[in-house]
Amino acid sequence: MRSVEEHRRVVADLIAARPATQVPIADALGLVLGADVVAPLSLPGFDNSAMDGYAVVTEDIAAATDENPVVLPVAEDIPAGRTDVPTLTPGTAHRIMTGAPLPTGATSVIPVESTDGGVDTVAIRAGTKVGQHIRRAGEDVTAGTTVLLAGQVVTPAALGLAAALGLAELTVLPRLRVLVMSTGTELVAAGTQLQPGQIYESNGVMLAAAVRDAGAEVIASPMSDDNVDAFRETLRAQADGADLIITTGGVSAGAYEVVKDALGEGSVEFVKVAMQPGMPQGAGTVDGTPIITLPGNPVSSLVSFEVFIRPALRAAMGLADNERPRRSATLTEDLTSPRGKRQFRRGVFDPVTDTVTSYGPPASHHLRWLASANCLLEIDEDTAELAAGSRAQVWDLR
Ligand code: AMP
Ligand code: MG
Repeated sequence: MRSVEEHRRVVADLIAARPATQVPIADALGLVLGADVVAPLSLPGFDNSAMDGYAVVTEDIAAATDENPVVLPVAEDIPAGRTDVPTLTPGTAHRIMTGAPLPTGATSVIPVESTDGGVDTVAIRAGTKVGQHIRRAGEDVTAGTTVLLAGQVVTPAALGLAAALGLAELTVLPRLRVLVMSTGTELVAAGTQLQPGQIYESNGVMLAAAVRDAGAEVIASPMSDDNVDAFRETLRAQADGADLIITTGGVSAGAYEVVKDALGEGSVEFVKVAMQPGMPQGAGTVDGTPIITLPGNPVSSLVSFEVFIRPALRAAMGLADNERPRRSATLTEDLTSPRGKRQFRRGVFDPVTDTVTSYGPPASHHLRWLASANCLLEIDEDTAELAAGSRAQVWDLR
């Protein structure tokens, strides 16, 4: 049997990054920059007022006090967005708003709170220092400075900076495009009346969401029945443009294993991985496109996605935090695990008490427990029994 670590390497080696590409900034959130961003202009772009108030020549109001205000004529009104830059004549004031361009010759701004707020003349009740309440051109960013680095994740703040610099596009490592295909003659879509023996398809819905949650893109999530020709036809019709194909079902030891039957002769290797759940796995390529074939049991498919695909997908998109955080926590109960296999139980991790409790039975069809678990409880291959009170390893899914 192949070890979990070895299969993780096989999957990681298959999934490659797409070349860096330019996208509209609105589409860049959460992606990794593929190139440094150099500021094409300075921020602020021009000297402007940091306050609503009056632009003055500082010396003109040096003597101003509460008892003896200095009264100046108001020669101009400068709201934010005024595009001409007037000149301030000494002995006058310009009323100015926050963000408005500073008039030529002004050396400080007096906040409106230190004045009578006059429109024709203004009584100023306090002096100030040269340069007070002026935002200088380039004090935030100087044109030509590298402001964001390749490899950095695009956050809302990074987008704000890019937008302030007038950038319409950013160079990013694009989302990988994933085809999620579920197999099983028993599967039907929601909205269809179930016949005896049929079940509602759930792996495709779940894994498509997991792919998006991992930051990648789902191009389609079709179903195929267990007919080899139908499977091949669906794959051929849908795989166009995919960077990765994920299938579920049809890879175990029974008959009608459609994925194995359709791909077993080609460049896909079907193996047993020493883990529970998720033992039957496959990985390889179809017409050059990487394909990972997951087992059909819902818990097996999602756990396999977490263990093998999610970290590889995120790494290929340049995301440094491609792995779930690992923690240790005190086990609240005795647990057993099959020796020779890595077990991943669903668990509830409580950060307040620093404890973890397994959630639901280990069997791989119990979706209900999976839906309310917040961690995977990992029990290594050499451990057959874990006692209450011992420290256990968890993968934090929160
Ligand atoms: P298989 O690996 O195809 O033998 O499937 C194992 C179990 O998982 C069977 O009980 C299937 O009905 C179930 N299963 C397989 N694929 C899906 C799916 N897409 N949605 C829900 N259950 C599935
Ligand atoms: Mg099946």
